[in-house]
Amino acid sequence: MDQKVIAGVGNVYRAEVLFRHRIDPYRAGKDITPAQWKAIWSDLVELMHEGVRHNRIDTVRPEHTPEAMGRPPRVDDHGGEVYVYRRAHQPCHICGGEIRTADLAARNLFWCPTCQRP
Ligand SMILES: [Zn+2]
Repeated sequence: MDQKVIAGVGNVYRAEVLFRHRIDPYRAGKDITPAQWKAIWSDLVELMHEGVRHNRIDTVRPEHTPEAMGRPPRVDDHGGEVYVYRRAHQPCHICGGEIRTADLAARNLFWCPTCQRP
């Protein structure tokens, strides 16, 4: 949340990339390892290129699309297939547990407490 550390990716990508790397949203930035940071960065670069190309934010891996999982597509003004963003109280696509939400620094967090353990 400290914009002096990293700024600009936005709330959707932040929530989603933390999920994709199984990182608890309450973990402090200083506790992210260089290897994790590098992986997050290259993932973000790829996801954001895809977002521009398709003009929507899709963050689920191929094996977690509605077609691959046989589930209905997401219904949301933002469109796009995501793991946790604005999916509070819905089941996690990976573990089936309930997606949680909370406020942090005037933004909404969304995460799966099972897949993103502290
Ligand atoms: Zn989960």
